[in-house]
Amino acid sequence: MKQTKTYLSKTVEELKPSGIRRFFDLAAGMEGVISLGVGEPDFVTSWSVREAAILSLEQGYTSYTANAGLLELREEIAAYMENSFGLEYSASNEMIVTVGASQALDIALRAVVDPGDEVIVIEPSFVSYIPLVNLAGGKGVAVQTKKENDFKVTPAELEEVITHRTKAIILCSPNNPTGTMLNEQDLEAIATVAKNHDLVIISDEIYAELSYDEKFVSFAAIEEMRERTILISGFSKGFAMTGWRLGFVCAPKELTEAMLKIHQYAMMCAPTMAQFAAIEALKHGNEDVNGMRKSYRRRRNYFVQSLNEIGLECHTPGGAFYAFPSIERTGLTSEQFAERLLVEEKVAVVPGNVFGQSGEGHIRCSYASSMEQLQESIKRMKRFLERQF
Ligand code: PMP
Repeated sequence: MKQTKTYLSKTVEELKPSGIRRFFDLAAGMEGVISLGVGEPDFVTSWSVREAAILSLEQGYTSYTANAGLLELREEIAAYMENSFGLEYSASNEMIVTVGASQALDIALRAVVDPGDEVIVIEPSFVSYIPLVNLAGGKGVAVQTKKENDFKVTPAELEEVITHRTKAIILCSPNNPTGTMLNEQDLEAIATVAKNHDLVIISDEIYAELSYDEKFVSFAAIEEMRERTILISGFSKGFAMTGWRLGFVCAPKELTEAMLKIHQYAMMCAPTMAQFAAIEALKHGNEDVNGMRKSYRRRRNYFVQSLNEIGLECHTPGGAFYAFPSIERTGLTSEQFAERLLVEEKVAVVPGNVFGQSGEGHIRCSYASSMEQLQESIKRMKRFLERQF
């Protein structure tokens, strides 16, 4: 039989499968598991948003839209970005509606990376960044952050990995997996580095709506940074719309035009009915988003306090819906901890090492689960810890 592996490109062959998958597969074969593993809201999309999609189908809007997305949606996005974050982007030539933030990241990287260019990824990090950099022909350069600094990168840590090949830095605030949110001062420090080395900043702001203690500040709002920022966002998290596959990217005109070339050939446009749904989400979704934010905040407060009480030290995450407690005192690696917790107490969490070297010694728990499930998971984790450590 023909060895089909010989057809594969070197780039793809070298990509490693995501470490999160293995735990999903393990948990899927077991009964009674409480999963704190998935990175998505536990809310169903608001009914009015679903209804808007249904109406668009009833009205027969089943064709492609403009490559950049429905103009009405782009106008809503422009108004939303201005009202929520004080950012001005032109609906006509500074934004593209994409298939999730995932596709926005992909076209952003492909638009700026030449073969061999280096892109800095701040770890612990969302698992897609380095593979997407590699697929774009670039080299992902990881920089490790420290728990003592709440996993915030320092200018010195960035300077250490910058070379003449460095093209861009990917930022993610609020962060997956740590929940850390960067404030204005943190962003300004990074801005100075970006300016000194003339770097592009790809700012993943998909969790912008989910910040609990301080007002979210976009990197593009920092003085002189708009011109070098590619802002990635979308509807998956804040609007509870993961399955609709709808995101967007905002950037200055030249960068947007470059990304649009890739988007029009590779994707044509984002799904039409999802775009109609998103118009409704932006027009009337504010109250629902606020309600979800309050609910996550309540659950964060309970969950993080409880983790600390049972002896899993955890900084208070300012945003997103992840807690990233330390498991160092158990002496186990994060993989050993996650595997034993799953087998012995049927609680699924993600081992921190899948998010990079500095994620080791931690686990990622998503608190986008019901209060009852969170309480039960704490009970089980307490029992697990008391039994052995
Ligand atoms: N960026 C981050 C940091 C994420 O956590 C996720 C989803 N897990 C994405 C991007 C992708 O989002 P989308 O569903 O919009 O593609």
